[in-house]
Amino acid sequence: MAAAHDGIERPGAAQWVPEGADTAALAAAAAQCRGCELWEPASRVVFSAGPPSATIVMVGEQPGDQEDRRGMPFVGPAGTLLVQAVRDAGIDPTEVYRTNAVKHFRFEQRGARRIHKTPEAVHITACHPWLHAELGDLSPKIVVALGATAGRALFGRVVRIGAERGRVLEGAIPDSPALSLLTAHPSAVLRMQRDPGYDEAYAALVADLRTAAAAAQ
Ligand code: SF4
Repeated sequence: MAAAHDGIERPGAAQWVPEGADTAALAAAAAQCRGCELWEPASRVVFSAGPPSATIVMVGEQPGDQEDRRGMPFVGPAGTLLVQAVRDAGIDPTEVYRTNAVKHFRFEQRGARRIHKTPEAVHITACHPWLHAELGDLSPKIVVALGATAGRALFGRVVRIGAERGRVLEGAIPDSPALSLLTAHPSAVLRMQRDPGYDEAYAALVADLRTAAAAAQ
């Protein structure tokens, strides 16, 4: 049982995950999940999008404000950048299965605004049974971890994007035969939009996605 930051013991998602379910059934069941405290202030669970037959699976951090409102992953500004980067890498975005390490939006309310808060290890652990079940139902050739939270959820350890990104890994995801690759989260690239290093950061993301696409052939 995991203790959330407010000190209340919560069970994690396992008891809400139907055994042997496909991704559609998992998505439906996740709406009932109370495995950590994030369900309560969020509008809805945001599970996944894309075809279960995908050879490329991309895992992000958590839904953002737009995703929480619309119930779809990767539909906010970072998602728009990711779609462009996926296209620039020669991948059809509609052929990618997209999901997140944590399925509810974690935020801090400041007036009318909801400010993104990075999920803590306790949230990643609590939500992991959903990701584990998804990967059990899917048969991707490669799983792309977008950012440190996704990397930690998939590999079960703290990752360093700068040192580890862009390499195709075998056997890095416990209990999954899929290859994997770690890269930056598109929101990290988006935050650099007014910086001189933006073009380089965007090109690095595209290059990593191209490497993943080649490994998925
Ligand atoms: S974030 Fe994950 S574990 Fe927490 S309530 Fe939502 S689905 Fe359940």
